[in-house]
Amino acid sequence: MAENTPLGFDTVCLHGGHTPESNRAHLTPIYASSTYTFDSAQQAIDVFKGDEKGYIYGRWGNPTITEAEEKIALLEAYGLKDAKGDPLQLKAILHASGMAAICTMLLGNLKAGQKILTHHSLYGGMHELAEKILPDMGIEAIIIDFHDIAKVEEALNADETIGLMYIETPANPTLQCLDLEVLCSLGKTYGLTVCVDNTFATPYLQQPFKYDVDYVMHSTTKFLNGHGTAIGGIVVGKDVEKMSKGITKMHRLLGGNSNAFDAFLLTNGLRTFSLRMERHCSNAMQVAQFLEKHEAVAHVNYLGLDSHPDAAIAKKQMKHPGAMLSFELKGGFDAGVQFIDKLKLCTNAVSLGTCDTLISHPASSTHMGVAREKRIQFGITDGLIRMSVGIENVEDIINDLEQAMGKTPNP
Ligand SMILES: *Cc1c(COP(=O)(O)O)cnc(C)c1O
Repeated sequence: MAENTPLGFDTVCLHGGHTPESNRAHLTPIYASSTYTFDSAQQAIDVFKGDEKGYIYGRWGNPTITEAEEKIALLEAYGLKDAKGDPLQLKAILHASGMAAICTMLLGNLKAGQKILTHHSLYGGMHELAEKILPDMGIEAIIIDFHDIAKVEEALNADETIGLMYIETPANPTLQCLDLEVLCSLGKTYGLTVCVDNTFATPYLQQPFKYDVDYVMHSTTKFLNGHGTAIGGIVVGKDVEKMSKGITKMHRLLGGNSNAFDAFLLTNGLRTFSLRMERHCSNAMQVAQFLEKHEAVAHVNYLGLDSHPDAAIAKKQMKHPGAMLSFELKGGFDAGVQFIDKLKLCTNAVSLGTCDTLISHPASSTHMGVAREKRIQFGITDGLIRMSVGIENVEDIINDLEQAMGKTPNP
């Protein structure tokens, strides 16, 4: 192999971030150790000062966790260059959950009196954080429609205290897709910290660092782990110095650290990441096309169909339109409940991004507690079904959907 040939993305999924083991284990073991030893007082001094690399305490770092962090940083930076034309360097910090990662990033960047500029249709946890928790800490969120670029610019001109732009694309649960190139360039022009929740797309489909964002966050619980075996989250940052100092400090003090077992499961899942994503996406397209033609279905919401209002944006910035879709059953709430109960192969569960297909009926589960009018206003109608398309043989997924929909329900 020529010395300077960069490794392929799939190879980085397998080998990226791995360092040889002192006991010659092929895979990095699960380091179940809360603390680390020093040979001498001098070595402790060197490690604490940062003059010698080393682990100190489990909340601060762990070798199994480091491998997952470095692998994901390499994938987010894959093929990208910094301002000098050198390969882009990123630093990642793994957390106990996606929400923990988001909190570290927000609290590490914002002070009381500053505001966040963000959009409708965010992951529920982030939305609640922005609406109910952060305002009491003096950090308010301005929530507007990010499709309306003139409105975004107007908001930025009107308020100098906006410090951070928060983007989620594609967004959970509506699959709204936002133009990263336009929004990030605007955010940078106004000197904001720009961050993107890349959970739905993953670095396989979309690399926000291409648009000069400052941070990317993931719920690694989803496609990155891919097997539904662990909750986790990650913050990936471009300012390596800030990541190593301020953000690392915030992470250590808030205490939302991951653990070796979950990190091992994540690294293991990432080994087949690109293979899974290809299959997820091709299956999702076929399922969407099947649903679009089915008489019991009123509407299919998939970024790969021309009928999706954001299909063109998805095409511009994503390699494939992803594995998430939703559809509306003509028979409303009852049809939704009947459909869910008839499924034999696909699993009725919240969450997404696992190898097997997950299906949920928000009106009878996640959104039970939301007033009907309000829920419908958010696009969560009575017969809406959300689907995370898995990597099974696609005929089996389609056959299960077909038998569960049965004959056309009476409207
Ligand atoms: C699941 C999810 C989160 C939260 O992640 P957890 O791992 O559940 O804490 C954040 N953003 C998006 C887009 C998600 O889907």
